[in-house]
Amino acid sequence: MEENIRDEHHGAHLEHPENAEHYTGLQVNAGIEQPPAINPYMTRRKHRPRLTVADYVEGILAGNPAILGQAVTLVESLVPEHQVVAQEVIEKCLPHAGKSRRIGITGVPGAGKSTSIDVFGMHVLERGGKLAVLAIDPSSERSKGSILGDKTRMEKLSVHPCAFIRPSPSAGSLGGVARKTRETIVLCEAAGYDTVFVETVGVGQSETAVHSMVDYFLLIQVAGTGDELQGIKRGIMEMADGIVINKADGDNVERANLAAAQFRNALHLFPMPPSGVLPEVLTYSGYYGLNIDAVWDMIDRYFEAVNASGYFEQKRRAQERYWMYETINEKLRSHFYNDPDVSAMLEQKERNVRAARQSSFAAAADVLDYYFTHKLQH
Ligand code: GDP
Repeated sequence: MEENIRDEHHGAHLEHPENAEHYTGLQVNAGIEQPPAINPYMTRRKHRPRLTVADYVEGILAGNPAILGQAVTLVESLVPEHQVVAQEVIEKCLPHAGKSRRIGITGVPGAGKSTSIDVFGMHVLERGGKLAVLAIDPSSERSKGSILGDKTRMEKLSVHPCAFIRPSPSAGSLGGVARKTRETIVLCEAAGYDTVFVETVGVGQSETAVHSMVDYFLLIQVAGTGDELQGIKRGIMEMADGIVINKADGDNVERANLAAAQFRNALHLFPMPPSGVLPEVLTYSGYYGLNIDAVWDMIDRYFEAVNASGYFEQKRRAQERYWMYETINEKLRSHFYNDPDVSAMLEQKERNVRAARQSSFAAAADVLDYYFTHKLQH
């Protein structure tokens, strides 16, 4: 019997000496023979050849969505060389940009933004042209799945050949995320997208950033449990060029109408907006596609009015100025805070300040002095 067992293991002994009887460590089984490759038909994927600035610009101007997508990835990249190429591409696209209606869409989660964007987007596309849907969500991170601009949330648009949907750039400072979206708008416009939606969650600071890059700001609300104005920041209402109450369907119609009346009353208390156009309040149903025409007519009326008054151009110029300063602020900040020596010094100074060993002003002055003398040579 024992002989048999030994014989059985004979092959293993040869292949794996550690299986010898006197060996007391980890045993290795002979196992089965492995195929030569996991998939012999799979050829190695070649690295995508790097496009030149001219390739990107040519592709974008030709309206190639794949190249546009790659260029946006470049804009979002944190790699300095990518940023250099991205900035050149943006510069070259700028003369071809600007010819779109930029519409910001905000509302709390669950208000029906994605459902509505799908319907509004299809409404726009049925009239021709191309639509880009972008998003600003500073809390999102690609790896965790961006909550805004997710393709699966816009069923019809996501399969429409004339729609370009892009989720929010991954998490970073709001300024950084917003600037990337701002730059993406330029690329989309150069690629011929004549309507741009920028979606954001109506709960934080991101509305201000979106407001500063769009021509029209639409606030989506739903009828709630009574006091509709509760929880809506006054600032957001002040920014809105139009307010729409979603889910005006079934049993909810009455409540939606009531909410609309409350919003109209509230808006009367606000000063006339600089556009000179009083924000309208409408009800609709994104899910059932009710009153979509009316919402879009309202937006058309706004564009007609501000084009005629010159406010459209005036606002765009003011936004350009705003973005110049925003870009400077953001670059200075990131140059400062991303410097490893500055970070180390900041940590140490923070400890000093917390322990009251140094005043906040003296600590700040020390760090800034160090930065200005040692880090701004080039
Ligand atoms: P978001 O978080 O603002 O993007 O909201 P969604 O578009 O994901 O919608 C949230 C929920 O509200 C979903 O379950 C939708 O089906 C529902 N919803 C959206 N629009 C309407 C509408 O017009 N009527 C009704 N009854 N439900 C809606």
